[in-house]
Amino acid sequence: MFLKTPIENLPATSNITIRKFKLLNIKTYWDLLNYFPFRYENYSLVSAIEKVQEGEIVSIKGYVAEVKQHIVKSGLRIQKFILQDHTGEIELNWYNQPYLLTIIKKGIKLSVAGQVKRFGQKLVMNPTEYEVGNCLIHTGRIVPIYPEKKGLSSRTIREKIFYILSQLLKNSKLEINNNQIDILPEEIRNNNNLIDEITAYYNIHFPQNYELAKKARNRLSFNELFLYQLNAALTRQEWDKEIVGYQFIVDENNKFLLQKFVNNLPFKLTSAQKRVWSEILEDLQRQKPMNRLLQGDVGSGKTVIAALACYFAYLNGFQSLIMAPTEILAFQHYKTITKLFNNYPVKIGIHTSSKKITNKDSTITDFDIVLGTHALIQQKISFERVALVVIDEQHRFGVSQRAMLKKKGINPHLLTMTATPIPRTVALTLYGELDISRIDEMPKGRLPIKTFIVPKAKRNNCYQWVKKQILNHNIQAFIICPLIDQSNTETMKSVKAATKEYQFLKEKIFTDFSLGLLHGKMKAKEKERIMNEFKNKKYHLLVTTPVVEVGIDIENATIMIIEGAQRFGLAQLHQLRGRVGRGDKQSYCFLFTDSQNSEVIERLEFFAKTNDGNLLAERDLQLRGPGNIYGTQQHGEIELKIASLSNFALIEKTKKAVKYFIDHYNLEEFKNLKQRIEEYKLSQISKD
Ligand code: ADP
Ligand code: MG
Repeated sequence: MFLKTPIENLPATSNITIRKFKLLNIKTYWDLLNYFPFRYENYSLVSAIEKVQEGEIVSIKGYVAEVKQHIVKSGLRIQKFILQDHTGEIELNWYNQPYLLTIIKKGIKLSVAGQVKRFGQKLVMNPTEYEVGNCLIHTGRIVPIYPEKKGLSSRTIREKIFYILSQLLKNSKLEINNNQIDILPEEIRNNNNLIDEITAYYNIHFPQNYELAKKARNRLSFNELFLYQLNAALTRQEWDKEIVGYQFIVDENNKFLLQKFVNNLPFKLTSAQKRVWSEILEDLQRQKPMNRLLQGDVGSGKTVIAALACYFAYLNGFQSLIMAPTEILAFQHYKTITKLFNNYPVKIGIHTSSKKITNKDSTITDFDIVLGTHALIQQKISFERVALVVIDEQHRFGVSQRAMLKKKGINPHLLTMTATPIPRTVALTLYGELDISRIDEMPKGRLPIKTFIVPKAKRNNCYQWVKKQILNHNIQAFIICPLIDQSNTETMKSVKAATKEYQFLKEKIFTDFSLGLLHGKMKAKEKERIMNEFKNKKYHLLVTTPVVEVGIDIENATIMIIEGAQRFGLAQLHQLRGRVGRGDKQSYCFLFTDSQNSEVIERLEFFAKTNDGNLLAERDLQLRGPGNIYGTQQHGEIELKIASLSNFALIEKTKKAVKYFIDHYNLEEFKNLKQRIEEYKLSQISKD
């Protein structure tokens, strides 16, 4: 297959370029075709030199009549060319690009594109694009602009993609019938007004007009969401066929004991908690393994639901595992769970890399509930009677993890929990292989966190107020440093900024207080130590970068200051804010911003008056698009290349199309689609 050709085969391509492509995970022609432009420049107007107008964006072609280089006093080097056609001539200027002199020689044919400017009496152009010869790739058309990552220029990417597409065009004219290779049946394409796939690939890169570019984007977005959801649906079908390792029963005795556990809780379950528990209880009695995502805002009370499920497992004589993303959180859960089962004969253990509450005399099998990190199931521990696995803050429990459990000889019920607010439509799309339960109600009597926007002028007042609160009420505060890079992992730049802020606050503002510093580049052990010290009130204030995990329970911390608040998405701000307000004291969140932009202020004001994570997530989606939201990118779970999660209409359409496909077609007859799904699966697994 031509499209499977390794990029090493690209003609006239340096090893450096190949290496850069590989850094972007582009290995084949096909990968490269799926690197999409994020905008276009319209250079399709090709004009005779005589006709060009000041201010116009045009392409012109002609012969190079003169080549010069000027060096101005400041050291600036200007490359000057005179371009001539049969109607006249125009001066072209580039700045500080002497290498052009080796490419653009007197007498050659040259095409350029850019805006025409007036310089005294003359019209001149500082071309943004050029190409030797006729208008073909970079000029005389609507030109794609690509994200320039890893030092790859848009121009290089464009050239390579152009080559692949022109080869493809040659091939497809010879042997390929577009209808046969399209992954979607014609019926589905027609019903959804979609252009065929090959046309879409041409027009996303080199559109004949903007209308076609739009259709291409629509088609490829459809593809992406369709594949995503079809894969989820197929996974679900597979899982539906499975049989759980240990089946639970609710007899009268169990029923009675479960009820007693609920009655003995120090609080009454909210009606939302009751509803999700009954959904989970239904699942647990089935023969097929549960695959449920429990979604609920920070503090909505997910842990007790997990505890109930574990207790039910215990009553049936089985074991449960609860896994958290970090050791700190695993220990926190351990404490909570231990407290909840204080008067019960349930044996609770923890097993992390630093602490093993299993020794020569007791092994994992001796415990009814075992706490650990996500790595628990990857370790060489054998599990025997595990009937339930609960996973906190990892939304998707993938095919590969399930396979891993099966290898260990268990096929348990799975409950994953998340506080990440995701609009319902989106959740159903992203997690189509899962059933979803939502706790959409907060326990009563919780004091909403008071949130304020603090402009620069009031910053000092705020610091003074915080000092007083700390002294008078013996409480603690978080100070979140601004987001420096929008990257998943914390960069050194962020760490430096946080360290600087910490020094500043320590020496200039909170001179009589003790401060701690926490950032993502610290070793896990050190992070844990600092977090624990903060918990044990060694510091009044903890200065931290935003990537440091949410979910930590420090009841005595009731104040949060977020620096550079305008840089965060609403959902992200909400997750940060969720670290305070966990006890019964009034909590406060201060949003520091120097911005006076009315949109920014409006957005932050909306945040200040809204405590509902779902509302905030939806607003985020409208305002900022899917890239920034949910922290799903942080979790590295969804990487949509082209489709937008804010396009609810398309999500609905593709969902229907997937259902229609499953009901009316046989995947086995769609070789290309099947292959694409297989590839998709592989790419998902390799990400795990
Ligand atoms: P999360 O959903 O963020 O994991 P937790 O399970 O940690 O929330 O619960 C937060 C706090 O609320 C805990 O202290 C828990 O004991 C308490 N809680 C849970 N459910 C209720 C309820 N129905 N009424 C009152 N408090 C509750
Ligand atoms: Mg929790």
